[in-house]
Formats: sequence, C-alpha cells, structure tokens
Amino acid sequence: MVLAELGTSISRALQQMSNATIIDEKVLNECLNEITRALLQADVQFKLVRDMQTNIKKIVNLDDLAAGHNKRRIIQQAIFNELCKMLDPGKPSFTPKKGKPSIVMFVGLQGSGKTTTCTKYAYYHQKKGWKPALVCADTFRAGAFDQLKQNAAKAKIPFYGSYTESDPVKIAVEGVERSKKENCDLIIVDTSGRHKQEAALFEEMRQVSEATKPDLVIFVMDSSIGQAAFDQAQAFKQSVAVGAVIVTKMDGHAKGGGALSAVAATKSPVIFIGTGEHMDDFQVFDVKPFVSRLLGMGDWSGFMDKIHEVVPMDQQPELLQKLTEGNFSLRIMYEQFQNLLKMGPIGQVFSMLPGFSAELMPKGHEKESQAKIKRYMTMMDSMTNEELDSSNPKLITESRMMRIARGSGRQKKEVEEMFEEYKRLAKIWSKMKGLKIPKKGDMSAL
Ligand code: GDP
Repeated sequence: MVLAELGTSISRALQQMSNATIIDEKVLNECLNEITRALLQADVQFKLVRDMQTNIKKIVNLDDLAAGHNKRRIIQQAIFNELCKMLDPGKPSFTPKKGKPSIVMFVGLQGSGKTTTCTKYAYYHQKKGWKPALVCADTFRAGAFDQLKQNAAKAKIPFYGSYTESDPVKIAVEGVERSKKENCDLIIVDTSGRHKQEAALFEEMRQVSEATKPDLVIFVMDSSIGQAAFDQAQAFKQSVAVGAVIVTKMDGHAKGGGALSAVAATKSPVIFIGTGEHMDDFQVFDVKPFVSRLLGMGDWSGFMDKIHEVVPMDQQPELLQKLTEGNFSLRIMYEQFQNLLKMGPIGQVFSMLPGFSAELMPKGHEKESQAKIKRYMTMMDSMTNEELDSSNPKLITESRMMRIARGSGRQKKEVEEMFEEYKRLAKIWSKMKGLKIPKKGDMSAL
C-alpha cells in the first residue's frame, strides 16, 4: 500500500486525539508533534512541516472555538487542508485528447522506472480507448530496446525502435512519423537516461525534443530519493519544458511523502504515481483522494464515483442507508462476501473501502482468500436467522460456537477466527455511521 507507514502514523495521531475527553492545547500539540514526526520520517522538508504546523495552529484557535463547535472535526479538516496544500502539484501543461495525435516524451534518470512507466502510461490509456504507440529512442542503455519491445508486445501496443541505429533523434522522428501514419493518437517516446544528471543527457533530451516537438514532456522520478527530488525536478525543468511528473516506486519507500511534497514545491504537476512493477500498478494522482486515504478517511470521491458508476440507480439509496446506519450484522457480512466473490458491482464498490478487501483479499493471494471467504460462508450457513441479523457478537456463546463448528464441519478455532474478522470489518463499517458521504471532491463533511 502506498505510504502505508506514514498514513498509519498520522491516523494513529488523529485517533489518539479523538480518544481524549477534552481537546485542549496540550492534546492538539501532542497530535501535531506526532504528525510532524511522521512527516519528517517520510523525509518531508523541515520547512514545509514547520509551516504546516504553524498554519494549523493559526486556523485552530482553541480559545476562539465556541462551545458546541466540533473541535475534532475542525482540527482534522485543517490537517487535511494543509496536507493537500503541501502536496498540491498543480495542473499539467497539456492533456492529450483522444482521436487527435499527441506526442508525449518521457525523460528521467536511468533506473528511475522510465521505461516501465512508458508502458504503464500507454496501457492505462489503451484501456480507456486510446490508440497508443511506443517509440524507443533510448540508444544509451543496452537492453532498453528489448525491454520496451517486450512490454509493448505484452500489452499489444505498436512499437517502434531499432537495434542498429545509434542516433536517438533519427529513431524518434521516424517512430513518430510511422505511428502517425498508423493513426495512433498517443505517441510515447522513451528517451535515454543516465546514471546522474549530466550535460550529455540534457543535450540529447533537447535534441529529441526539438526534432519531435512533443505536446507534453513527462519527467519520471524515483520516490526513494525523498526530498532530494526538489533539486532533481528543478534541474530537469530548467533543461526541458517538463509539463508533468510521474513519481515511481511509491509502493516500497518510506520517503515517498518527501518526494511528493518536494516535487509539489517545484510547482511541477504530478499526474500519476507508480505503485509496483506490474503494468497496472499505476494510479492517477489526485491530491484530495490521496490525502483522505492517507488519513484513513477512505477514498470518498472515488468511492462515490464507483457507486454511481456500477450500482444500479434503484439500489443506491438502500446501499447508502445501510452504510450510514453503521450496524454491521453477520448477514451484511455474508452478503458482502457473496458480492466480493462475484466481484459484481457492489463487490467492486466494497473493494474500495479502506481495509475492507485489502486485508481480506490481498493482491496475489486471491485464491487463498476466496477459499477462506467460502469457509466463513459455510460456517455462517450453520447460524440461525437471529444470529445473522444481530450486530452483537456477544450473542454467540461458547456453546453456540461449538455448534456452528459441528454444523459446518469446521474447527471451533476457525469459527473464532471468523468472528475476529467480523469484528474487524464491523469496526471499519461503523466508522461510516452518521457520515454525510460527500459529493465528489468535497471533503467538508468528513
Ligand atoms: P529506467 O532505467 O528508468 O528505464 O527504469 P526501468 O523502467 O528499467 O525500471 C527500473 C526498475 O524499477 C525495474 O526493475 C522496474 O521493474 C522497477 N520499477 C519501475 N517502476 C516501479 C514501481 O512503481 N514500483 C516498483 N516497486 N518498482 C518499479
């Protein structure tokens, strides 16, 4: 999961504050210190963190808050806004349009994930109905040609490159021409990287750019460099007209938060993040949903979009009502398991709830997870209606557990394990109780 540690520390700090009976200066300071520590550990620049802390204190004046105001919510909102501000990357200089040929040139240091990201970017757009093409103008790194060619073949994307030609400008121009003739509307040019920023790299970048006249130059950067991303992004911006940035390897590095905030500080728009080595480990970077996930609030705008997109209109009110009532019975769990297994519309929606399926169905372990869910369902088949409809686990006594185990041919400890899972999911579900689920992009109700 992206920035899991940072997210956990911040949500823990907020949770501790929520547990306090009275929120006074001391409790607020403790919470902010905890968040500051977490951000510094993620390699966010000290000045940014300090400014954020000062701003929050300015907004949240505890003395001024009249009694009756929900201090907790105001503090949480202030933290949310400040983190959004810190990570706000601005808008890209150009957005390709379907059906009209656009040239997108990728630049970055060797090893940053540039070649992998070219394919992810092409694949992402192909799934959305574009006709992308990949051009390998990286003549510096041995193996770049084969790597891109293989990736392109895997994703069934037209590819252009040469084993023998050593002039990257010539390849880039020919590749673009050929792709235009083939009516491709998103022509992606992968350029050479170097181990470090050096004059030869920037000169080659400039030449390829002059010859192909890209509509957009995307700079690819490895997140593990943390706040050093500031200097790297500045250096590339000064050499070529960088219109957008993609930050890679956000899956494995504690310094991802530092990298993102550093790039934002250079006012370079981050459009996607790379979250793994596979083709679809690639996410649109949108600051509000990103921060709300980080704070453990869940991706509400994505969640609501998904509900509108996949749940039939007539089922939407019932689903939202169940969610906001917050009572999670075993029957609801059973129904959600059914949906998850079918991965029908509602299953897709629930897979987006924070913690709901990420732990229940971790990526790469789908088979084992499905078997586990089926086992749980067999046990629930041995329960009475009263038990299924109750949201009080105390109703299930030791002797009932034994009976459920016998009835389903399972061990008692497996029944206990199922109840533990139930309690965990009930906790997630209960967080939604009474929530006004916000409209797209509006987090004020949280
Ligand atoms: P290039 O030299 O910049 O073209 O880099 P590559 O595309 O060859 O990538 C270098 C290494 O980083 C490869 O092993 C990739 O699989 C890996 N990589 C690229 N993007 C990501 C990512 O988002 N997450 C992880 N974990 N690995 C990545």
